[in-house]
Amino acid sequence: MSELKYKKKTVYEVVDKKIIDEAFAYSENYKKFLDTAKTEREAVNEAIRMALSAGYREYKLGEKISAGDKIFLNNRGKNLFLISVGSEPINEGIRISASHVDAPRIDLKQCPLYDEGGMAFFKTHYYGGIKKYQWVATPLALHGVIATADGNVIDVAIGEDDSDPIFYINDLLPHLDKEQSKRTVSEAIKGEQLNVLVGSRPDDEENSISLAVLKLLNEKYGIIEEDFLSAELCVVPALKARDAGFDRSMIAAYGHDDRVCAYPALTALLEQKETKHTVMCILADKEETGSDGPTGMQSILMLDLINELAANLGGNAALIRANSKCLSADVSVAYDPNFPEVFEKNNTPMLSCGAIFAKFTGSGGKYGTNDADAEYIAWLRRALSEDGVVWQTGELGRVDCGGGGTVAKYISKHNIETIDLGVPVVSMHAPCEIISKVDLYETFRAIRAFYKF
Ligand code: MN
Ligand code: MN
Repeated sequence: MSELKYKKKTVYEVVDKKIIDEAFAYSENYKKFLDTAKTEREAVNEAIRMALSAGYREYKLGEKISAGDKIFLNNRGKNLFLISVGSEPINEGIRISASHVDAPRIDLKQCPLYDEGGMAFFKTHYYGGIKKYQWVATPLALHGVIATADGNVIDVAIGEDDSDPIFYINDLLPHLDKEQSKRTVSEAIKGEQLNVLVGSRPDDEENSISLAVLKLLNEKYGIIEEDFLSAELCVVPALKARDAGFDRSMIAAYGHDDRVCAYPALTALLEQKETKHTVMCILADKEETGSDGPTGMQSILMLDLINELAANLGGNAALIRANSKCLSADVSVAYDPNFPEVFEKNNTPMLSCGAIFAKFTGSGGKYGTNDADAEYIAWLRRALSEDGVVWQTGELGRVDCGGGGTVAKYISKHNIETIDLGVPVVSMHAPCEIISKVDLYETFRAIRAFYKF
């Protein structure tokens, strides 16, 4: 009678050792991707490099599209659409994966630099849902671009090479934290205290540390202080992705959310020589702040692209959308035995139990969410069973404990069947997050099966 019961199993219990070995090998390349792609711009650059070497070519709106084309559209350097035009009629629909390549971090303000008390700092405004106390007293790297008035865009990445300096946000010593330690966790470090320490040596002429910093920046990048007005600079943890645990079964890194889904979605597409279905892999920006703006998933650009596919391939855009299927590829929480009070064990993703399907996200009575159809989940069960993919269902914590959202609702509102699929993460949104290598690889296998089935 045991086959009547459903039991969640770990990947280790289900798959052959060969698949585990593949998962560990795949993880090596994933770690390299993480180290080269700490911001959405860097992730898009790296994805373009990978796409070009897989035979993709750049496409711009208005250009001709034909069956068999492998193209990418670069949206402002922060959002990428990769499309493999399939051999079947476009009206059969598109297989879409949508993940995001932005991650929680700390952005510089437009007038960042100042001197105070023998130090120079950058003022910041944090980006996304961070726990501010986690970002102090830890090494930070500076990444981003400075767009100068003459039309140049200067790439900045300082703090990644072992010989680079790093940056830092001060915390209060325990000897003097009597008042601070009474504050709530969210108030312990306040937003305006996230000031990044950038120097302490004054220049000779004016005894100004910030001027000395500006002189160094002028020597290195040719910029003046006014150029910060048109810059996008942020600080991220100065950490490299590392194996975690004696058994090396996990990866500790900054920014798993959501490159741990973006990388599988991208590589599962790039490895296909040609596709039967038309496949669209979207690497989106601004998910962590609500998917607004022209590079977020609330932008109309995805629809514009579907319209272009329809026009070029003799299809009907409404019919294409109605027949399309989407995986909103984003992370979820992994059950954490250190905080059992926020989980409901039967319905929470477990580490090492494979890719997670979240039928819905949202909060408090399923507000603010796509809720995938039962029929669609049944179709996915069939698609994934063909390749023996190990997957689980899961919900983001106990009912009424909190909640969260993804891009799923911004895609499904266009009459596109959508579900959330992703990797369970420990310490999500922390400067250093943990994932399991086998969950990463099952997510890759799940997305690959979805593209093909
Ligand atoms: Mn995410
Ligand atoms: Mn997130």
